[in-house]
Amino acid sequence: MKSSVNSALFRELPSVDDVLRTPAVAGLATSQGAASVTDAARAVLGRLRDEVGSGRLNQSSLRLALDGVGEAIKEHLGKTLAHSLRPVINATGVILHTNLGRAPLAEAALAHIHETAGQFSNLEFEIEAGTRGRRDVHVDRLFRKLVGDAAASVSTIVVNNNAAAVLLALNTLAEGGEVVVSRGELVEIGGSFRIPDVMAKSGAILREVGTTNRTRVSDYEKAITDRTRLLLRVHRSNFEITGFTEQASTAELVTVAHQHALPLMEDLGSGALVDLQDFGVTGEPSVLDSLRAGVDVVTYSGDKLLGGPQAGLISGRADLVTRMRTNALFRALRVDKLTYAALEGTLLAYVKRDHDSIPALKMMGLTKEEIGKRAESLAAQVRSPKRKIEVIEGESVIGGGAAPSSVLPTRLLALSCEGLSADELAARLRASDPPIVARVEEGRVLLDLRTVFGSQDPLIAAALSRIAP
Ligand SMILES: *Cc1c(COP(=O)(O)O)cnc(C)c1O
Repeated sequence: MKSSVNSALFRELPSVDDVLRTPAVAGLATSQGAASVTDAARAVLGRLRDEVGSGRLNQSSLRLALDGVGEAIKEHLGKTLAHSLRPVINATGVILHTNLGRAPLAEAALAHIHETAGQFSNLEFEIEAGTRGRRDVHVDRLFRKLVGDAAASVSTIVVNNNAAAVLLALNTLAEGGEVVVSRGELVEIGGSFRIPDVMAKSGAILREVGTTNRTRVSDYEKAITDRTRLLLRVHRSNFEITGFTEQASTAELVTVAHQHALPLMEDLGSGALVDLQDFGVTGEPSVLDSLRAGVDVVTYSGDKLLGGPQAGLISGRADLVTRMRTNALFRALRVDKLTYAALEGTLLAYVKRDHDSIPALKMMGLTKEEIGKRAESLAAQVRSPKRKIEVIEGESVIGGGAAPSSVLPTRLLALSCEGLSADELAARLRASDPPIVARVEEGRVLLDLRTVFGSQDPLIAAALSRIAP
């Protein structure tokens, strides 16, 4: 009995070709491509066939579903042809959130990508001479301006990320020889970057000195032999050692290295180009501080405190950087014109002292009063009997391996909703378009507007009104 009902229903299902010929669907092929429309029609009809087969549809519900086939195909196309990489609203208060793409780019950087990447450019071309040029000049010249006279002989090259910068520098300066590092600086960053592992890949031999909590300059001195090629300092990006501690100062390391005619390299990680004390953040040396102190080579990321694209920058003594540039590894790790365009746009903002145009720096500079005002105004728009929303004191985090213990005072929106758990509420925020990513703490959803662009406040208000009645 059932199977004969089913076969009657099956006969009502149109063929893929029938569906493609209907005007609503035929029109889609022009904008979305015939092949993807055919795939979508196949998928939608396949789903209906399964539903008929499992007895979930009767004649009237099948006819209803068939009326909606055009819409279902559109929806299917919308899902399959949508970008996978898409914007989200970062309400976590973590400015440099690796999972959320670290630093958002400055307008000037975006404009420069737009202007140069869709056309040919002089990426590696000397326009005047009409000869082959070098891609690193675009960044090197700006960096020289930033460093000023203090380091006229400083060169800068760019590779794919800071992990690559450390690998290239170690391989160039110390392959087959020893690198002296403090046991307190053998860090792991983000689970996949471990100093001992990168050292091993570079072909250099790790020579650990001191202890986890205390390393004196004499520990470095005692470890230096004729096999030593380099002294390395690594920024403790994501942790701190407190209590009974001692660390050789940069000045002491510079002296020891140079007494032994060895270079000193510093993996700074975050690579700030401004003085972070202006933001109330202490103990985070800037790139320029390290170079001026006499460090020979520094490595740092482009998308952490610098506020630019993913990149690894190596700045330092011109003779050492030249050796890195001629290393075959450099060719494997080099970056694309998009990265150069973004870096040039970002570095120009530094040269012009236009720090506010760099979103990460702008966000760092917001006061809790400014953030609190926006939070109060947002709260007033969405408060309802079932939706409890308060503005409370809290802390934002710089993130991205910068200043692990330095937090910025902020004001948070603390949200709870009758009949919804905090996790459910957070999931609904993530399901909105654009997705809103928040923190959940102590049974409440916390939104930090420090990392939310002002223009996105209304989107948060609208999402809250919609998802939590
Ligand atoms: C972040 C960081 C790295 C890795 O940099 P990526 O640009 O993510 O490759 C390496 N060293 C230190 C000290 C860091 O903070």
